[in-house]
Amino acid sequence: MDSRVVGILGGGQLGRMIVEAANRLNVKTCILDNPGSPAKQINAVVEHINGSYSDTSSIEKLAAKCDVLTVEIEHVDVATLKSLRTKYPKLEIYPSPETIWLIQDKYRQKLHLIENGIAVAEPQIIESPSVETLKKIGNKFAYPYLLKARTLAYDGRGNFVVKSEESIPEALEFLGDRPLYAEKWAPFVKELAVMIVRSVDGKLYSYPVVETIHRDNICHLCYAPARVSDSIQLKAKILAENAVGTFPGAGIFGVEMFYMENGELLINEIAPRPHNSGHYTIDACVTSQFEAHIRAILGLPMPKDFSNFTVPSTNAIMLNVLGDNNNVNGELQLCKQALGMPGVSVYLYGKESRPKRKMGHINVIASSMEEAESKLQAIVTGNASSHD
Ligand code: ATP
Ligand code: MG
Ligand code: MG
Repeated sequence: MDSRVVGILGGGQLGRMIVEAANRLNVKTCILDNPGSPAKQINAVVEHINGSYSDTSSIEKLAAKCDVLTVEIEHVDVATLKSLRTKYPKLEIYPSPETIWLIQDKYRQKLHLIENGIAVAEPQIIESPSVETLKKIGNKFAYPYLLKARTLAYDGRGNFVVKSEESIPEALEFLGDRPLYAEKWAPFVKELAVMIVRSVDGKLYSYPVVETIHRDNICHLCYAPARVSDSIQLKAKILAENAVGTFPGAGIFGVEMFYMENGELLINEIAPRPHNSGHYTIDACVTSQFEAHIRAILGLPMPKDFSNFTVPSTNAIMLNVLGDNNNVNGELQLCKQALGMPGVSVYLYGKESRPKRKMGHINVIASSMEEAESKLQAIVTGNASSHD
């Protein structure tokens, strides 16, 4: 389909699913990550690079072997990516290093969105974290509020909910040694998300609006379509397109937002890559988010629209499979239950089982949300065999 080699910084589950989509189109991919990482396990076509996406020489080694670079994670060394433009003028990098730079620091990302007139939960920079500083923020924002690491955050691991003045010391102990900012609490009714694709010629396409449910800060379920009115779906799609429109470069973006009681929508954060809230697209849409990303960054033909489900009646729920808290590989029991259920697909990422680690996901497809929920219920309660 395309003889160019796509280099991917990061070889976790997102990289693995990009590789799967690329394989179907005969597109070669080369991975930079540790040996045996999930994406490398399923790709023996080229020799991969062992090393880190935050290490200059490893990134340079990857660039030397590839025509196009992309990322499965935003925590990469942007200065090195920028410097590659001089060394390899023909190399294409998507998302653009400027976009990754704006997004990888969550406070910088928020300022950028505010400057572009996009509504977000109010942020407050913290120059020197101390009990006094956090008390002042408590007076300004009221409690609870969020203390967030500006960089290297994922799955809520850089977040702390400051519930009251009393919890400030614990918050400082948890996050005190990282660059921080605070965020006003957003008392949302639901969390919504939209995957947006930008082609090399700058056209934006949106996937359906979905609803995500987090448990302990980690995405737990994703309902597609979101169970909100058509007008809110349209508003969410327009907001997501406007927000992504402010970041240059081709590729896919995951836009997370809060739907507030008064109908307002606030952007939570944007990921410049495939996203957990887009995993449902593998089974619910004709073109998955991973294939859309590959097509976008290679300038391959795009469909007129990504916003349709495979069939109009498609309703999907994605369940994240997290490492069992008590038994190594205990989560596989749930996956086996799911395999017995019609219209359900199981994806495992080839990772070593650890408590709360994202080990895989399950897509439940049905012709109504009630049916999807009933299948999901049967899977999690262990009654899948009685379901037809
Ligand atoms: P991800 O894995 O999505 O990258 P992350 O570590 O970047 O996660 P956030 O997206 O900032 O974390 O927050 C995780 C979750 O915490 C959100 O999805 C939401 O449920 C909750 N949350 C974050 N910010 C706020 C806020 N200002 N008000 C209320 N809840 C919030
Ligand atoms: Mg994040
Ligand atoms: Mg998030």
